[in-house]
Parts: sequence; C-alpha cells; structure tokens
Amino acid sequence: EVEVHGLGKKYGVIEVLKDVNLSMAEGEVVSVIGPSGAGKSTFLRCLNYLEKPSSGTIAIGGARVVAGEKLPDKTSLDHLRRVTGMVFQSFNLFPHLTVMENITLPQRKVLGSSREQAEEVANQLLRRVGLPEKAKAYPARLSGGQQQRIAIARALALSPKVMLFDEPTSALDPEIGLEVLAVMRDLADEGMTMLVVTHEMHFARDVSDRIMVMGNGGVLEIGPSQQVMSEPQNERTRQFLKAVL
Ligand code: ATP
Ligand code: MG
Repeated sequence: EVEVHGLGKKYGVIEVLKDVNLSMAEGEVVSVIGPSGAGKSTFLRCLNYLEKPSSGTIAIGGARVVAGEKLPDKTSLDHLRRVTGMVFQSFNLFPHLTVMENITLPQRKVLGSSREQAEEVANQLLRRVGLPEKAKAYPARLSGGQQQRIAIARALALSPKVMLFDEPTSALDPEIGLEVLAVMRDLADEGMTMLVVTHEMHFARDVSDRIMVMGNGGVLEIGPSQQVMSEPQNERTRQFLKAVL
C-alpha cells in the first residue's frame, strides 16, 4: 500500500531527510518515533507533498510520484493527496463552520458529493468517533479531544487509503488523549493502513505492527513493535528509549 524509496529533503544545503525507505502492507500500522528534530514531521509532510521532497519516489494506494526539481503533474499530485488523510497535532478545524460543515465541505469540494451524500457520510463518521450529537456545534465549543476526533472524521470522509497522523495527542491532556487514541485503535482494528508519528509509547508498542525509529533525518531502525521496544538494535535507539520510557 505504501512504497517509499530514497526519500530526501533539503532546505538549502541542510539535509533534513536522507534516503528514507518504507514499505507498508495494506492494513498495517507503523509508529514513527525518535528525538525532536529527527525529521518525523518532515517525512510525513513529504509523503503527501505538504512539503516538497527533493528526491525519491512515493507510491501510496495506487498513486505514484517521482520527486525532483519540478513538481509532479497535477493529476498525480491530486491523486496522492486524495489517497492520504492527514491529522495534525493542532486540529485545524475551520472555526467558522459547524462540525457537520467541517466534515461535508471537503467531500463536496474534493469528491463533488451532493449535500445529502456528504451528510450521510458525516453522520456515519460522527457515530464512529463517538460524537453523533455534535453535528451542529462549532469547534470552539468542543474539547481538544473532541476537536481531534472531528478532525479524524473529516479526514476519513474522503475515504483515504492511508491515514497519516502527526502527534495527534501531544496537544492534549493525557486523559483526553486517551479518547483520541481509542478512536485510532478502532481504526487500526478495522484495517486502516496508518502511519503515526507519536510519543505515546503504549500506542506504539500495543497498537502498531512495527515501529520505525528516526534520527538525524534517517531511519535508525525499523522492526516489529515488541522487538524494537525490548531489544533495540541501534545504540541511538537504546538511548532514545531510555530517555522516554
Ligand atoms: P519534533 O519531534 O520536535 O516534532 P521532528 O522529528 O518532527 O521533531 P522535523 O519537524 O521534521 O522534526 O524537523 C526536522 C529538521 O528539519 C529540524 O532540524 C528542523 O529544524 C528542520 N526544518 C524543518 N522545517 C524547516 C524549514 N522550513 N526550514 C529549515 N529547516 C527546517
Ligand atoms: Mg514533528
């Protein structure tokens, strides 16, 4: 479902991603961990061209782009963005729109759905994230955890093949974060392919199939979650885990 080869990203002369490779099977959940500045967010943002990678190839859910000097053609880029759903640390809901409008607007703009279709999908998703009664609420009236669950519903409304999460709980109180993690765990159980940058070591160990450890713009190691947690192969991984566990 995901094939990334030789992904690189430079800001001027500074290389923030170096030859990052990743293959993911359909339904697989991979957690990305590593110290601040390792390049985790940059990696995620390059996957759907929120950031323009400098080199490498990205194939996700049938979309394929080759990075280089010039941007890929619009059709390939649109395709890539269509198959990836992204959820950020800050929830980024449209503040002037209700929850229902937040979830239906992208469907109408991107998929050309009718209002009825879009609202039906939205209602299903609101039940799925446990917030069916919030359709008419404005984001400011919701807790952080509720806003993040709505942001997940909004991303899911476009039927992505892969969900990308960048520290979805780190702006939340630990207790509130749990309700977001529960929604993510359900998604994983339902077979969604997920790439999750996280500091939640329990999630990384218990929910994800594999853990990818990044450091210095590269992949330090990647392996089955239990194994990476209990017997890390890389010295820098060991140091990182010692600091966070
Ligand atoms: P954190 O855990 O703090 O979120 P991260 O692993 O997500 O860290 P990135 O945000 O991907 O790290 O940053 C990787 C490196 O790229 C950092 O050294 C950062 O300073 C650098 N960087 C990110 N964005 C830019 C930019 N627009 N211009 C120059 N350097 C940048
Ligand atoms: Mg980051």
